[in-house]
Amino acid sequence: MKIFNTLSMQMEEFVPLVPGKVRMYVCGPTVYNLIHIGNARPMIVFDTVRRYFEHKGYEVDYVSNFTDVDDKIIKAAMEEGVSAEEISKRYIEECKKDMAAMNVRPATVHPLATQEIPGMIEMIETLIDKGHAYVKNGTVYFRTRSFNEYGKLSHKNLDDLRSGFRDLKVTGEDEKEDPLDFVLWKPKKEGEPSWPSPWCDGRPGWHIECSVMAKKYLGEEIDIHAGGEDLVFPHHENEIAQSECATGVPFARYWMHNAFLNIDNRKMSKSLGNFFTVRDISKKYDLQVLRLFMLSAHYRSPLNFSADLMEAAKNSLDRIRRSAARLKDIVEYAGAGPAFDDEIAKIKEAQSFIAKFDEKMDMDANTADALSVIFDLVRFANTQVTEASSRAFSEAVLEILTNLCDVLGLVACPKTEMLDSDIEKMIAERQAARKAKDFKRADAIRDDLLSRGIELMDTKEGVKWKKA
Ligand code: AMP
Ligand code: ZN
Repeated sequence: MKIFNTLSMQMEEFVPLVPGKVRMYVCGPTVYNLIHIGNARPMIVFDTVRRYFEHKGYEVDYVSNFTDVDDKIIKAAMEEGVSAEEISKRYIEECKKDMAAMNVRPATVHPLATQEIPGMIEMIETLIDKGHAYVKNGTVYFRTRSFNEYGKLSHKNLDDLRSGFRDLKVTGEDEKEDPLDFVLWKPKKEGEPSWPSPWCDGRPGWHIECSVMAKKYLGEEIDIHAGGEDLVFPHHENEIAQSECATGVPFARYWMHNAFLNIDNRKMSKSLGNFFTVRDISKKYDLQVLRLFMLSAHYRSPLNFSADLMEAAKNSLDRIRRSAARLKDIVEYAGAGPAFDDEIAKIKEAQSFIAKFDEKMDMDANTADALSVIFDLVRFANTQVTEASSRAFSEAVLEILTNLCDVLGLVACPKTEMLDSDIEKMIAERQAARKAKDFKRADAIRDDLLSRGIELMDTKEGVKWKKA
């Protein structure tokens, strides 16, 4: 697979550090509110990259953090009169619900910044010992000029950066040796969460958390580090500086950055107020539509959000699902048996879509072109599989379609959602069966419901149910 590496600004063949394994780290959201669909873009595209690696047979260790201590969280907590922990816990839970609804698989580990403070203190101590960091009045700064490769990711020239910063000097930071130095640890302010440290009671800077979590959960050297393109500078540049100065080895081999999700050609962001939350979108659309919309563009191209494009994505998803449902019907009604002679070549043709799909994904995860291959397969299925087809052939086509969709995190054959009234009806039927001592029938109804994600609980107050 070829990956466009921000570090070299070139397409590079992906070679893992350990054969057969991929260790990737994706910067996660700061949890002070519901996530917006701009935040959802890296979640969806890098989840898809992960799924593609797995489809190719790699074992993927996927780590994505939640930033659960930060100025914005503290501000939200103060406004609501609750603790910062309450805010971050609440929005981590909400974010996980949104991720599940977008079919973004949970990471192998979702570390929380607040749970990793000892590791951060340790790395900061190492940086001080090695002369890469210094303390001023309780604040610890990274000494940027001590790392002569600083700027290698963002391809920025240190002198240009320095002169830019001189005009933008932030008050209270006059104590820094150099305007480019950044905070590793800062003293607490009244009412803020804090932790003891050798320098003062305080809290870590944002950049150090990712360096520490990546090292702890993936090792000193990792394969892929990813996030939105706004993170290239300063966040990822600073991560590289901290990690490489602390460990002495290259941090990440491949850096992948998604372009922005825009609205009216401006970045969607909380601060501009021009955002839709994932939750807003879920009220109008199945979030699979959002996922397909995101994947209909290459991840490095800006994507403009619009109602028309969402409608187009909805129609595309419907087209895939209609085709899959038709295949499923044909499979069910076809008698069991092998493929007919004239179908052998067609099965081969159906299989050739897998190679075509992989070819597109191998070019820097080109999901837009991979989706076109899926639509070619849909066309093939709609014309070549008919009511007269054998089960072997129709099943093979259905399986290929379902599997390729699954690599993109799209569910071709969704389990139909049951209406509450239907569930109640089945429960009543089960009760009647029990009364008639037909336990086999009663159990069959319970199992049927369970297979649709409905769990029954027999309580003193009667039968209750919940979505499992
Ligand atoms: P934040 O919570 O702002 O740190 O963002 C979490 C992730 O979402 C980061 O990888 C950001 O780069 C990404 N992100 C934020 N806004 C957008 C946007 N409008 N388009 C694409 N990615 C975004
Ligand atoms: Zn990060």
